[in-house]
Amino acid sequence: MATSLLRIPPPRGLLRPLAVPERLLLGPGPSNVPPRILAAGGRQLLGHMHPEVLQVMDEIKTGIQYAFQTQNRLTLAISGTGHCAMEAALVNLLEHGDTTLVAVNGIWGQRAAEIARRLGSNVHEVLKPPGEYFTPWDIEEGLVQHKPSVLFITHGESSTGVLQPLEGLGELCHRHGCLLLVDAVASLGGAPIFMDQQEIDVLYSGSQKVLNAPPGSALISFSEQAREKMLRRKTKPTSFYLDMGCLANYWGCDGEPRRYHHTAPINSFFSLREGLALLAELGLESSWKRHQANCAQLCQGLCDLGLELFVKEEKARLPTITTVRVPKGYDWKEITAFLMDNHAIEIAGGLGPSVGKVLRIGLMGCNSTSNNVDRVLHALQDALRHC
Ligand code: PMP
Repeated sequence: MATSLLRIPPPRGLLRPLAVPERLLLGPGPSNVPPRILAAGGRQLLGHMHPEVLQVMDEIKTGIQYAFQTQNRLTLAISGTGHCAMEAALVNLLEHGDTTLVAVNGIWGQRAAEIARRLGSNVHEVLKPPGEYFTPWDIEEGLVQHKPSVLFITHGESSTGVLQPLEGLGELCHRHGCLLLVDAVASLGGAPIFMDQQEIDVLYSGSQKVLNAPPGSALISFSEQAREKMLRRKTKPTSFYLDMGCLANYWGCDGEPRRYHHTAPINSFFSLREGLALLAELGLESSWKRHQANCAQLCQGLCDLGLELFVKEEKARLPTITTVRVPKGYDWKEITAFLMDNHAIEIAGGLGPSVGKVLRIGLMGCNSTSNNVDRVLHALQDALRHC
């Protein structure tokens, strides 16, 4: 009998119903998914080459062009999370031996540097302590000294809560023969960014923060200059899955008939389409304003509780993720666990260089409401009394 050959029984856990409790996700992401986006992800499948799916992909493309404020032809969604977009940007831009300058003031610069090194790039870092941002002079010094072909910088440093000013950086990079690559995973839709006007060459973001879609798809766009650098490559990108030439064709960016490259995560694209639609309906300016106002209310409330904000300069605070120092005499793990156990609210501790130093509170997309600010402040007040 065939069953006598089985040595591994059906796992007990899988024989029980799926358990998904209700939680308010106010960490640095993912954020809660509103019913309209959930419903989109739960629609019946279509084939990945069906015209209706290609139409949804075209709509996603225009949604990204709106969110990024770009007319770039090479604009699409990657089938993967924010890291996948980071990897896609670097694996397509860099060739073995290219020099990369990475602005490191938190974990995302560290990660980009790690990926670039794995690709055989000659990586240099400009450093700032966690909680601080780079001035154009900091960057220019690095550009002059190292003559990189690509600069990586993070717009919304979610590990530290810093918003990086981007004004003038694109022009500066171009004056030094360098392309500008920006990570906006944590900031897109929450703080202004203008890809074309700011001369950003490669910009990427994720689905699970302000866009309120589930994790698993990421937005990316390449300027004409970035496209030309990729066309000049002497070697193919080492990743087939993330090869922008293949993806450009599948996404209808190269004017050729679309060919199968991989089976797109179709339901993730349905959700992403709805996340982008919600942003388009609300409008970027209203979205930025809403995030700014709720962040200001949160910062005021945290100060009223006697807590110390990690980012000193008000204009350098990321409107989507607020960092506050772990108060003296408290263990950050006890505070986050208390909020989870007693209020069903997720907030997070630090990440990378901010571990043990900060608590991180995210208010992103539909989660950025005055009511949620009140809820998390009330829960924190409770935690400070009991932990
Ligand atoms: N960059 C930034 C700024 C982020 O906040 C994150 C996610 N926390 C990432 C990149 C990586 O995204 P993912 O976790 O979706 O791979």
